[in-house]
Order: sequence, then C-alpha cells, then structure tokens
Amino acid sequence: LLTPRFALPVALLCASALAAVTVAARQSAPVAASRQNPALIEDLVYANRILANQGVVDGFGHVSVRDDKNPSHFLMSSSMAPALVTTKDILEYDLEGAPIDAAGRAVYLERFIHAAIYRARPDVKAIVHSHSPAVIPFGVTGTILRPVFHMGAFLGEGAPIFEIRDAVSGPTDMLISDNKLGDALAHALGGHAVILLRGHGSTAVGNSIQQVVFRAFYTEVNAKLQAEAMAVGKVNFLTPEEAAKASKNLDTLAARPWELWKAQIGKIK
Ligand SMILES: [Zn+2]
Repeated sequence: LLTPRFALPVALLCASALAAVTVAARQSAPVAASRQNPALIEDLVYANRILANQGVVDGFGHVSVRDDKNPSHFLMSSSMAPALVTTKDILEYDLEGAPIDAAGRAVYLERFIHAAIYRARPDVKAIVHSHSPAVIPFGVTGTILRPVFHMGAFLGEGAPIFEIRDAVSGPTDMLISDNKLGDALAHALGGHAVILLRGHGSTAVGNSIQQVVFRAFYTEVNAKLQAEAMAVGKVNFLTPEEAAKASKNLDTLAARPWELWKAQIGKIK
C-alpha cells in the first residue's frame, strides 16, 4: 500500500526537528518524574519505529503517549528521527510542554502540539504528528479529506484544517512552536480524530498508542486512495452514519495490525 520511503524535497520538510532547541531541566520548583510504566515506554518506542517503517514519518514527525501513572504528564522521545528511538530516549513532559528532566537532550520544537491537545482533550491518550505526503494536498486545496473506505472511517464527516494564518497576525514559520499556537490547533481539532495543518502536515489523536498509530497510518492510506478515486471519477464517500458505525468496529481491530507491525520490527532496545 505504502512505499516505505517517500522522496520529499527537503524544502517541504518541516524545519521543526532541525530547529530543535535544548531545554535544560527546570531550575525552580522541579517536578519529580513519575515512575513510568516500562510496558508503556516499550509501546511508545514501537510506535516510533512502526510509523517510520510504514512511511508515516521519516526523519521528522513525533508520537507521544499520556503517562498512565500521571495523566498530567506525557511521554515522548527527545528530538531525533523516530526510526532511531530507543527506550533510553523517552522523556517526560508536563502539560505546558516542559520536559521534566531533559538532562541536556534536545526536545522537539513542536512539542506544544501534544501538550495543548492533552490539556484540551482528557479522552486523548496518544498523539501522532507527521508530514506524511499524501495528506498534504488536502490541506492546501480545500478538498476535504473524507473516508473513502471503512479503514478511514475515523475521519467521520471529514478532517478539519488548521489555518495558522487565522491564529496569529503576520507570517509564521508554519510550526506549532508555542502554547498559544498549540491551543489554537487544539481548538480547531475539537472532537475530531485527525486534523490537517495547512502547508505542513497532520495530527492524529487516539485513546491508545495502538489506536493512534492505526489512525495515522490509515489517514495516509485514505488520502492516497481518495486522490486516486477522484482522478478516476466522482467519489461515493462513506456517509457520516456509515463512518460512525465502521469507526466503532475499527476500535476493536487496532490490535491486529499492531501485532503485525511489531513483529516486522522485531526486538527493540
Ligand atoms: Zn511538523
């Protein structure tokens, strides 16, 4: 379905990871790191590796999970290519996007995407941000990304688009690089599962790592198929009612591809 790698012009790549900044551990009122769940960390590492393996992320993009021991914190790797993430690279962040103890490691500039959505959506337990290529045209043309098949049913009535020009006055570098932009993105996401960022990428949310990886993968697949279908002829999309029913069904199936994708990765460090 997806080629493992996409040849994107460098100019299209989000500069966020390039511009990753190092944030020292907070000096005042340090918050103790919670005792993290090793199984959750392992799943998060697998999520990074699977998303890279399936071509959803490349050198850029990131995935996080809400800390199941402390729901006001989340876990995400330090700033690096997802394919290279190991258990030692996972950092803990508070809901303002501040790392609890980065120990000198660089953190993603766009960590505010995750912080803001976790603040706004208590139901969200995991988030993927990517620049997966087939989705990009739907962010810039006004053609709504809608479910063309049952595997994309979580797209519902269509994915909203975040227009960064509406969030701040004047031109931006397109990145979600502070909490104000994060809040505007979370507001535009509302209760949806996926939001497109115009001229940038997309963000998927889920109630588990397995579900969000599933959604990020099938968002890209649906976008590719929708573009192909539109080139073939008039598209008969899932109705919102069909999407709602099919989406419920998908929620029971997220474990199946997850086990396959994990097996394809093999053991992790
Ligand atoms: Zn980005």
